Amino acid sequence: MHEKCGVVGIALRDREVARPLYYSLYALQHRGQEAAGIATHDGFQQYDHTDTGLVGDAFDEADIDDLTGTRGVGHVRYPTSGGVGTCCAQPFSVSFKSGSLAVSHNGNLVNTEALRDTLAEDGHTFTTDADTEVITHELARNLLSAAPIQAIAETMEQIHGSYSLTVLHDETVYGIRDPKGNRPLVLGELDDGYVLASESAAVETLDGEVIRDVAPGEVIRLATDGTEYTSHQLATAESAAHCFFEYVYFARPDSVIDGRRVYEVRRDLGARLWEQSGIDTDVVMPVPDSGRAFAAGYAGAAQDEGADVEFAEGLMKNRYVGRTFIMPTQEQRERAVRLKLNPIKHTVAGRSVTIVDDSIVRGTTSHQLVDIVRDAGAEAVHIRIGAPPIAAPCYLGIDMPTREELIAADMSVDEIEDAIGADSLAYLTAADIARVLDFDSTELCLGCVSGAYPYDIEGEKSDRETLYPPVGVEDPPAEGD
Ligand code: 5GP
Ligand code: MG
Repeated sequence: MHEKCGVVGIALRDREVARPLYYSLYALQHRGQEAAGIATHDGFQQYDHTDTGLVGDAFDEADIDDLTGTRGVGHVRYPTSGGVGTCCAQPFSVSFKSGSLAVSHNGNLVNTEALRDTLAEDGHTFTTDADTEVITHELARNLLSAAPIQAIAETMEQIHGSYSLTVLHDETVYGIRDPKGNRPLVLGELDDGYVLASESAAVETLDGEVIRDVAPGEVIRLATDGTEYTSHQLATAESAAHCFFEYVYFARPDSVIDGRRVYEVRRDLGARLWEQSGIDTDVVMPVPDSGRAFAAGYAGAAQDEGADVEFAEGLMKNRYVGRTFIMPTQEQRERAVRLKLNPIKHTVAGRSVTIVDDSIVRGTTSHQLVDIVRDAGAEAVHIRIGAPPIAAPCYLGIDMPTREELIAADMSVDEIEDAIGADSLAYLTAADIARVLDFDSTELCLGCVSGAYPYDIEGEKSDRETLYPPVGVEDPPAEGD
């Protein structure tokens, strides 16, 4: 189960926490639209509410009023092609001998089955096949014989894969980030408490100040009375494996992740795209919304170099059309692109056009757009993509299709160019991404690009060191050095 989700945890001095949790889930809505949930604790007992749908639909006023207490955790869940329903809504709650637990998880474990088997032998029974339930049971088991931080450390030794967690154990909130920092998690301060959230935009929505990112392998405990936090560095990995796709597509552009401003990263990637594969056309247009920052960076770099190119919003998005990405059939996806995006004829007719988007996954969007823009009278249609070809599945939390569906899994860039019918097509490389992000490529997870993963996954390659020679020093020395 691949879950690309949003998590939050808040502890306040003496204000009810449900409403700030609810607002922060709104701020994280882009990270999951299938279900939403909140669990709170008032010092005596835990309350929770989860439901399917958008945050605004999952809670009504009475639900929020019933969630009493000054600390709690929340979750928004990403839609996956199967498994829609309340079965896997989070926070995942259990009560056990030594207390109550509610766990919100963003990421995906790679050893769920082995762990579940071990726990089942010990008498744990499972109601879902979700990895989050396995984490919760493992943690509950460790809490029976150890103090909380020790129990979390023991749990982190057992669970492998990507996880950013917010945990409510009795009345205490913890934030936990996996040792490779694959998914984001940030710590912020409010006037009257502290917040942990997937993205900084959620902290700002609450009028809070971001303190810093939670470090890979770090656990943050929020004092129950909301007056302080403590940090526990419980695990260290040889190297981080930050998901590059958070920067390219998933995160909000107004968030800052691991010190990188997402909007600026996207603009810089767009500028890099111009440097590497710029082509003179009459107009540059973004694919809304995901391609906007890339196209702005691309066109800006072109204009800085004196290119006579117009930057225009030439594709209009119908915001009432649902997500094309998760529609079950290819025909539905194609139809949905047509419903969703319509060109401004006047902008494209008789002109050469560059369309900029963040990524190509199945190829549906770019193929349809080439057709649509040609039908509207464009003379030439060039596609520029702000990510490398997505050629392999994601096992760590992004809901990518299988290899059979990924257009780049078995086609070269030239073949894809033909398949989508573009006059030209260019992508960025993994080295471009590492360079713009100012990470060494061994600090990034680029599994969906290279097919080599930061964890051992059955049937896939790993050993990142040999597969990703460091690119931090890739630039050749300048002449005369
Ligand atoms: P394609 O049409 O090639 O299958 O997908 C590419 C389009 O889907 C791009 O416009 C990109 O912004 C978007 N996209 C990429 N990854 C995801 C994802 O994980 N979820 C959703 N909903 N859209 C995505
Ligand atoms: Mg898009």
